[in-house]
Amino acid sequence: MASSGRNGHGRNGNGASPKGAGEAQLVVLPVLEKESDHPCFECARCCTYIAIEIDTPTTPREYDYLEWYLRHQAVGVFVDWDDKWFVKFDARCKNLTPQGLCGIYETRPDICRDFDWRECEVHVKDDPADKLLFETAEQFLDWLRSKRPRAYARFQEWKQTRGGRGKHDKALGRVRVTELLAPPGAPPRRPRTPPAATPR
Ligand code: SF4
Ligand code: SF4
Repeated sequence: MASSGRNGHGRNGNGASPKGAGEAQLVVLPVLEKESDHPCFECARCCTYIAIEIDTPTTPREYDYLEWYLRHQAVGVFVDWDDKWFVKFDARCKNLTPQGLCGIYETRPDICRDFDWRECEVHVKDDPADKLLFETAEQFLDWLRSKRPRAYARFQEWKQTRGGRGKHDKALGRVRVTELLAPPGAPPRRPRTPPAATPR
C-alpha cells in the first residue's frame, strides 16, 4: 500500500521571514523536498491489487480451486518467501487519485499504514518479489507436473473419476456444452437473428 504522502506536507514556501522591507533580516533557506524524492513517486503499484492468504494446496480439490482461480482474468496466485500462498486480484484501489496518491491518506485502512515501503517489491531488488508466481492455470499445472509429479498424477486421476460431465448436466436435457463449441478452424457461427416480421 503506497504511503503516498505527497500531499503538500513538508513544502512550506520559501521560508522567508514576513518582516517589512528595509529591516535587516536573516533569510533561512528551507531544505526543499522535491516530489520526485518521495520513494513512492509515480509508482502506486501496491495500491493496485489485493492479496488474500490461502491454505497451501495439497489435495486434488485444492489444486482444482487454484486452477479455477487462475482461469479468471486479473487473478494470480503467488507464494511468498515464507512459503505462504496467496490469491491476488488486480484491482486498483478506489481511493487512488489519478496522480497515484492516496485520496484518504489520513483515514486509510490500518493495513495500508503498516505497509513498509522499504520492503516493497520496488525497493527490494535482490530477490524476485515472490518465490512463485502463477498468472495462468497452465503455468500452475506445468509447475505441478514438473515439481510435484505425484500430486499432479493424483490430480489428473481425480479429474478423470469426476468424468467430463458436470454433476447437474442431466438437468440440462440433451444439449452438451461441448456440442455448442465450434471445432477449431470452423467458420464462426452465424449470429441468431429474429425471424423476419410477416408483412400484413
Ligand atoms: S510499491 Fe513500493 S514504491 Fe510503489 S507505491 Fe508501493 S510502497 Fe511505494
Ligand atoms: S487506501 Fe490509500 S494507501 Fe490504501 S490502498 Fe487505497 S490508495 Fe493505497
